[in-house]
Amino acid sequence: MRWTQAFIPTMREAPADAEAPSHQLLLRAGYIRQVAAGLYAHLFLARKSLLKISQIIREEMNRIGAQEFYLPALNPAELWKETGRWDQVDVIFKFKDRNAHDLCLGITHEEEMTNIARQELHSYKQLPQIWYQIQEKFRDEPRPKSGLLRLRQFLMKDSYSFDLDEAGLDVSYQKHYDAYCRIFDRCGLKYQVAEAYSGMMGGSYSHEFMAPTDAGEDLIAVSDCGYAANLEKAQSKAPPVEDPPGEGAPEAFPTPSQKTIEQLVAFTGESPARMIKTLDYMVESKPVVILLRGDHTLSETKLAMALGTGVFRPATPEEAFALHHAHLGSLGPVNLRGVRILADSALAGRRDMMTGANQDDTHLRHVTPGRDFEAEYHDVRVVAEGDLCMRCGKPLRVVKTMELGHVFKLGRKYSEAMGARVLDETGKEVTLVMGSYGIGLERILSAAAEQNHDQDGLFLPRPIAPFEAIITAANMDDAAVREAGEKIYREAQTQAVDALFDDRPERPGVKFKDADLIGAPYRVTVGKKRLEQGMVEIFQRSTRQARPVRLEHAVGALKEELDRGC
Ligand SMILES: [Zn+2]
Repeated sequence: MRWTQAFIPTMREAPADAEAPSHQLLLRAGYIRQVAAGLYAHLFLARKSLLKISQIIREEMNRIGAQEFYLPALNPAELWKETGRWDQVDVIFKFKDRNAHDLCLGITHEEEMTNIARQELHSYKQLPQIWYQIQEKFRDEPRPKSGLLRLRQFLMKDSYSFDLDEAGLDVSYQKHYDAYCRIFDRCGLKYQVAEAYSGMMGGSYSHEFMAPTDAGEDLIAVSDCGYAANLEKAQSKAPPVEDPPGEGAPEAFPTPSQKTIEQLVAFTGESPARMIKTLDYMVESKPVVILLRGDHTLSETKLAMALGTGVFRPATPEEAFALHHAHLGSLGPVNLRGVRILADSALAGRRDMMTGANQDDTHLRHVTPGRDFEAEYHDVRVVAEGDLCMRCGKPLRVVKTMELGHVFKLGRKYSEAMGARVLDETGKEVTLVMGSYGIGLERILSAAAEQNHDQDGLFLPRPIAPFEAIITAANMDDAAVREAGEKIYREAQTQAVDALFDDRPERPGVKFKDADLIGAPYRVTVGKKRLEQGMVEIFQRSTRQARPVRLEHAVGALKEELDRGC
């Protein structure tokens, strides 16, 4: 491709509302343009990169024996009503056609794939099956984020496995896990595989593939021993706290206007780790009192797991008052009758702590869990930086990441609901065991941009960069420079190097700035001075290292660099 024939609308400045570096640079480099909130047009460079990403995914999926399908994005409501997702998932685009028939735009395709499976799979002899597609997905996102992170329409590779039993699912799951590692390795990304909750997909077991980046919205806890888990799921041991022996009985003391843990810390000089925080929730319209260490944070995801329901909300101040006969800021668990008390496991075995007295402007000291109140203990807190790994006992790190992919063991959730069954070897009808597996294609491009940029632009990994190299003829007015550029470009084509020839009659400064911006990992610079010695320069964008090579060896040397590095 010649730049004079390409549409690459670069910009010197990003729009003010673009925050993440990937968003700013993909706009500035002319990859994308916004159509509306959460909707982006992929221009030439983005499309070229995404097609390379698709091809890597396709090759690795085909390698595990997966078969490529293409299903409609437009789906009839009936299938989604069979599994209940029509009503359960609130981010689906739903609408009616001209005949008042309910339709939705697919967010994933479990229902459609399971529908094919139940119609066409009859015998264990047809198993296992892995079906995938690379297709548009839609999500009625309440808060679309700027850039390609939280989109309302996006590209996804989704696949579905059908097996006779759990052992079969284990094999299909592992195949995907390994394929995903190969895909993200080949895309040149840094990533972590983290244990995760299954969320709205259902199922019991899942892993997320997460790219560490400051632009990410998901936090994971990571240990040097290899343990990594989404913060919603991560477990940890709180570092031990030194408590007094706890011989004294609870004793009330005045704490006028001291309502928050911070205020109480300042007022008493006691550490927040020695305090019990009391939170009231209404769970299916009944109150539940939740206790945490003063410096810990409640995880509502873990709370849902502990309660076995997601139907809960924080109690109103009036509801809390009705239970404690005291206002917020002085609530505690001592002498509460007839209410379920759920304490975080970090409170088990603690002694002589401080908490609200259920009397305004008053707290209790010398409170010992188990002696002064009874509670059920569950892990309900968010892992904090410095908590200890359950496996190796060393401190955990909390890292910001972007989700690239997710693999789920669905089990029989969808096949049961939709009646997808086959006959096993003994002629008995058995329900299919399923897995589902997704990769966000724009996420790969965004993560690559986040992990490979500086203030001047992008330097994407070779396998997914829109061009492997840009040939910059510094001055097209100079006949020798122009001819040398043309020669290198022709040779790059014959040697199958995907190169962009910047043949624009622009000033060298403009051309170098654009070359820095657009994400090609290498630049071949043809300048007047060097060319007089028969030389050109090969410039590696990520390291900014340049080395002179003879004009006739330029493409050979470039190919060597490409094959060796990135
Ligand atoms: Zn560890």
